Amino acid sequence: MRLEQLYRSGKPEISFEFFPPKTAEGTEKLFGDTIPRLKKFQPALVSMTYGAGGTTRELTLELCDRLKRQADLETMCHLNIVGQSRTQIRENLQRLKELGIYNLLALRGDPPRDDPNFKPHPEGLTSSVELIEEARRLNWFSIAVTGFPEVHPEAKDRAADIAYLKRKVGAGGCVIVTQLFLDNAFFFEFMEEVKRAGITAPVIPGILPILSAPQIRRFAALCGSTIPPAVEKNLAKYEEDDAATAQYGVELATRQCEELLKKARVPGLHFYCLNRPEAAEAILKNLGLSPAPQK
Ligand SMILES: Cc1cc2nc3c(=O)[nH]c(=O)nc-3n(C[C@H](O)[C@H](O)[C@H](O)COP(=O)(O)OP(=O)(O)OC[C@H]3O[C@@H](n4cnc5c(N)ncnc54)[C@H](O)[C@@H]3O)c2cc1C
Repeated sequence: MRLEQLYRSGKPEISFEFFPPKTAEGTEKLFGDTIPRLKKFQPALVSMTYGAGGTTRELTLELCDRLKRQADLETMCHLNIVGQSRTQIRENLQRLKELGIYNLLALRGDPPRDDPNFKPHPEGLTSSVELIEEARRLNWFSIAVTGFPEVHPEAKDRAADIAYLKRKVGAGGCVIVTQLFLDNAFFFEFMEEVKRAGITAPVIPGILPILSAPQIRRFAALCGSTIPPAVEKNLAKYEEDDAATAQYGVELATRQCEELLKKARVPGLHFYCLNRPEAAEAILKNLGLSPAPQK
């Protein structure tokens, strides 16, 4: 189903995000274990990230094809514009069309770590809005864009961030998927501003179940998300114990999702499941969204 139709059912739609594994074994584990387990939850959508560079980029398109054909799942491909010419970007878009993949998450992407100011490729695009426009030219794509409950680190302020989000939606973004946040207050505040700006596209919160203390601290620092003091206290408590941290991560994400569903009536939940099924399975079971009984 295309993104435009996806969030209209009135029931929360579940999506899972994967990344291209670095090894063939990782790919086999993803398709042989993680995906079949998560497929039981009947996700409305799965997505595959697009790397900052190198060979995993080609892999993204290949794996999207596998997700769609082999796993028979509605698939959204992430694409960014970092370090690519307009020709390369057009080739990717054309290839996706040939593969029959119409759902796209259009991203600018992050600059390389050793050169943190975004510089467009000399023959490339300059912004995510230009990527949306480029994709729309093919008359094929349904386009999602990103939103930032805690304001993107490069934005001047909340107002500028929301104004840019409005431009992305105006250019053709029909669904907004958010960056991770660990305190729902940020999401509620963001939604107020989204509504005030007259943006009506469905906003799908991105949920990251915490798996380990060092990992969440690294991710949060990278994307400018806050670790609330109460969460940090628990991370410190289970610092050396990843199993206990993951258990806490499930409890925290369950509480977050419950509140988002009840209070904000979000139309969907997008899980950054880091190619592992256990946490998402546990959270969905806690939420009463267990797999349909097997016949
Ligand atoms: C759900 C989700 C999935 C992601 N998947 C990937 C992935 O697969 N691959 C990957 O590389 N990265 C991914 N990212 C991370 C993403 O690359 C970063 O958020 C990056 O810093 C910005 O790209 P963007 O498209 O999210 O943001 P953009 O919205 O394009 O830019 C971020 C902010 O910068 C400001 N800004 C940018 N350009 C302009 C402009 N021209 N004028 C005014 N303000 C501007 C705005 O405040 C804007 O909100 C993902 C993020 C999310 C939330």
